[in-house]
Amino acid sequence: MTDAQRSIEIIDVGPRDGLQNEAEILDIDTKVEFIRRLADAGIRRMEAVSFVSPKRVPQMAEAEEVFAALPDDDGVTYIGLALNRRGLDRALEAGCREVNYALVASDTFSQKNQGTTIEQAVDVYEEIAAEAKAAGARCSLTISTAFGCPFQGEVPPERVVGLVERVAGDDTYEIALADTIGCAVPSQVSDLFGSVMAVAPGARFRAHFHNTRNTGLANCYAATEAGVQSIDASAGGIGGCPFAPRATGNVPSEDLVYMLDRMGIKTGIDIDKLIAAGEWIGERLGHAIPAMIGKAGVFPPAELRA
Ligand code: ZN
Repeated sequence: MTDAQRSIEIIDVGPRDGLQNEAEILDIDTKVEFIRRLADAGIRRMEAVSFVSPKRVPQMAEAEEVFAALPDDDGVTYIGLALNRRGLDRALEAGCREVNYALVASDTFSQKNQGTTIEQAVDVYEEIAAEAKAAGARCSLTISTAFGCPFQGEVPPERVVGLVERVAGDDTYEIALADTIGCAVPSQVSDLFGSVMAVAPGARFRAHFHNTRNTGLANCYAATEAGVQSIDASAGGIGGCPFAPRATGNVPSEDLVYMLDRMGIKTGIDIDKLIAAGEWIGERLGHAIPAMIGKAGVFPPAELRA
């Protein structure tokens, strides 16, 4: 396939991974309006809510109310994060058609962040994935800290490849490799995606990068070249990194759309509307957004476009 025919699906994770890592807690109407603006810009799949305990993540409270306010016939898949059986039950009750579960590729992080071993987390995932499928919902898996751990440093690629081998199968819609702390570099992205694709050739893969050290967009390029079908990003680049308090968030969706558009790779997204959505949420959060393209403007400018 040539690049001209290729398309990449951009999953906006701003409403979940972005807002979850922002200090400002938004009300239900603002969250719903943000999601609506993303859908209007052409985002067809997004991480909309998290069915975790609001005591643990106050930014994600009222997931049911947010979900209930979303249209169910607009062709958009609204993903809900579920990290245990209770989360899955809540998601299914809310009418969520795709859940995402996250497990961690590093033991120390898994213990500290989720209170489980990797083994226990895989067991929980397998149960949730089977349960979701039986209920007619999709289940996807994110492998967090796939490129590095804040506590253990380097994560052996064999560990990630071994996890992919175990979870790839009928119950898994898609597997994301996540650079949770934003430490990855493009050569590592090429190598790791190449390795997991070799052991699970039929699986769908998604890339998830944080721009913590400014390698996010380069990593997206490497993932694109490696053949991933989907890339996570957040409008405006909102969010942050829990392990680097001064860091910015996910790769900005509008910067990614600009790069892919100029490479001739289709995203189906209206970049002007996406830029506006990023600026809009930045105003709600009360700070400047990290995204670059809205500052410089799209090239060529509208009046010079063919
Ligand atoms: Zn993330």
